[in-house]
Amino acid sequence: MFRLLLLLPFLWSFPSGNGDIGMVKVEKVYHQTQGEWTRVYADNPNSYPITVRLYCYYEDATEAIREYRVIAPYTFKKEILKHSHRLQATRFHYDFRIIRGDVYNSHHDDSYMYQLPYLSGCSFRVSQGYFGGYSHQGRYALDFVMPRNTHVCAMREGVVIKVEDHYKEVRGWGHVPRMGNNITILHSDNTIATYLHLNHKGSMVKEGDYVFRGQEIALSGNTGWSMNPHLHVEVFRLEPAAYVSIPTQFDIGGVPTTLRDEGRYGW
Ligand SMILES: [Zn+2]
Repeated sequence: MFRLLLLLPFLWSFPSGNGDIGMVKVEKVYHQTQGEWTRVYADNPNSYPITVRLYCYYEDATEAIREYRVIAPYTFKKEILKHSHRLQATRFHYDFRIIRGDVYNSHHDDSYMYQLPYLSGCSFRVSQGYFGGYSHQGRYALDFVMPRNTHVCAMREGVVIKVEDHYKEVRGWGHVPRMGNNITILHSDNTIATYLHLNHKGSMVKEGDYVFRGQEIALSGNTGWSMNPHLHVEVFRLEPAAYVSIPTQFDIGGVPTTLRDEGRYGW
């Protein structure tokens, strides 16, 4: 007797909650049974790697297996698990989570000078910097105070791996932390930048797009956990079981600069 429990994939969307699945290219994990074997496969139609976190439960075994499998770009029907109904446990279940990016191969390029996330000629104040006590505990995140509909630019080139812009602004704060519109960009060193609190329908890019450093990607807003219009940005990398926030240096007049709380920065 054989039974599979197949749960819906949960696309990585840290730090702001579940993401919509892109309409064009969708990663897949699925299985096929032939004879005594059931094989689990993954498809990655994207231009970047993905990591499948796989959980397997064998009914007559005490331990579950947790594995991370990196699937290269443009790879289809990659076998990530096989199970023999004759040789192994009679009942076998699996579920999975898809993480966009490669969790085994992210090493931040600390020499990279990021561009301020807005247009030349603008300058904005940092209202909460690294490890800010309000909502940046343990995180190298930055909040820039800016009016709604300010043009937000990519701090660094990369591939857009997530876009959420369907949330409307809700009065108040705190109770809606997962309802912040956001764009997430994967860099060439497998680190990730997130741009948060964007305006409703304010995105100018879509999942799968390659964006250049300085390219306009969205309009800022006040969605999610946000008391006043501002832009939250953060660079991080993912390890198999960890989220690692990363400090960044910005290009201010050609000088690598760490942005400080209450500083005002333009270029
Ligand atoms: Zn913030």
